[in-house]
Amino acid sequence: MTAKVLPLRPGTPFDHFHYIVYCPETREAAAIDPFDDAAIRAAAAAHRLDLKMVVNTHEHWDHAGRNAAMKASDNVQILAPHAAAGTLQDIDRTLKDGDVIRIGNAAELKVIATPGHTMASICLAGSEGGTPFLISGDTLFAGGAGNCGYGGHAPSLYATLVAKIAPLADETILYPGHDYLARNLRFADHVDPGNEDVRAVADDLARLPADRLHFTTLAEERRINPFLRCGSSGLRRTLPSLAPGLDPAAEESEMFVTLRAYRDHWADTIAA
Ligand SMILES: [Zn+2]
Repeated sequence: MTAKVLPLRPGTPFDHFHYIVYCPETREAAAIDPFDDAAIRAAAAAHRLDLKMVVNTHEHWDHAGRNAAMKASDNVQILAPHAAAGTLQDIDRTLKDGDVIRIGNAAELKVIATPGHTMASICLAGSEGGTPFLISGDTLFAGGAGNCGYGGHAPSLYATLVAKIAPLADETILYPGHDYLARNLRFADHVDPGNEDVRAVADDLARLPADRLHFTTLAEERRINPFLRCGSSGLRRTLPSLAPGLDPAAEESEMFVTLRAYRDHWADTIAA
């Protein structure tokens, strides 16, 4: 069983990544969070793929807002998190933790419930050629983590990262819902300034041709992503100086919630 993943960066104003996951035998395909449905359609045609379904990682309009349009013009089934069923219309199948989505003969995605960015959020785990991957929606980004200000809850996101993401293998390729790595690395350097790995990844990224897509592994994320490093000495040294009142010996969950709140403010004040 192996899935194939076709990542796309359609150039939306929100720096989306889109993914088509397909069966290499039957060419049947699933579009994940297709905000730019025209780009999905064009990519499916170019790769001779037969779109069978749309899978939403969560209910936000920039992930699920094109469900009705795709259902009308592409005759796809809509699969969405069980907990989003009250918010979204047009759902054909709801998804719960542990469910498996089969695509054609050879591709499958496992549903992991990951509340935090929104309480309905899920991630989708699969394997391509023996290498695991995680389609993470807005739960985990390269170098960052989801904003919890639009229907989410930061302590829940922390619990999700510990319980659901931490056990995943180092070699897992992270496929997030948006391309925020460059900005997230600037934030990581700000809150974890001695972290050489952050500088190294930023240097590599700066050398990449602009049209090349770049994805990290969870091993890299564990070295660079401040939201996965809240117990590190670097974060404990720096964050209390940026967020007065935070005890350097605070529980890791409190460090995380403080970091998330600080990031919300920082994102509003630094041009990116
Ligand atoms: Zn979202």
